[in-house]
Amino acid sequence: MPYEGQAAVLNEAGREAEVEDITIDDPGPGEVLVKIAASGVCHTDLTVKNLNGNGMAFPIVLGHEGAGHVEAIGEGVQGLEKGDAVVIAYRAPCEQCPACKRGDPRHCYQALRAGPRVRRKRDGAVCSTVLRCGTFATYAVVHARAAI
Ligand SMILES: [Zn+2]
Ligand SMILES: [Zn+2]
Repeated sequence: MPYEGQAAVLNEAGREAEVEDITIDDPGPGEVLVKIAASGVCHTDLTVKNLNGNGMAFPIVLGHEGAGHVEAIGEGVQGLEKGDAVVIAYRAPCEQCPACKRGDPRHCYQALRAGPRVRRKRDGAVCSTVLRCGTFATYAVVHARAAI
């Protein structure tokens, strides 16, 4: 059952962020859906706008510093329950790659991410999310290891 909400979305290069209705799919395996309670406002999101997406495909849901409560849990997730208060980490190290194995998770080659779960409601366009988060939104789906 998809969830519905709103998000601050960059719809195309050169445009201001706009509030759009969105739909959010259920979390996939290893993912959680978080109802966002608060989000930091960081210069990185402005950089994404100023660099015309900074390599991400439009539309883009801004925001990468969120906190909220777990609303739904994907298959196989352990240690989190509906209602848990979480902070979203914008980088969840894989613990498998050479950087992680040498004790340098900050430079993880393959940070864990959720699949594309957010769509612009009016046309179904799949949204990118800044730093795998997209916290300027009612809900975000993140990898369970990114929900601390
Ligand atoms: Zn930031
Ligand atoms: Zn890694």
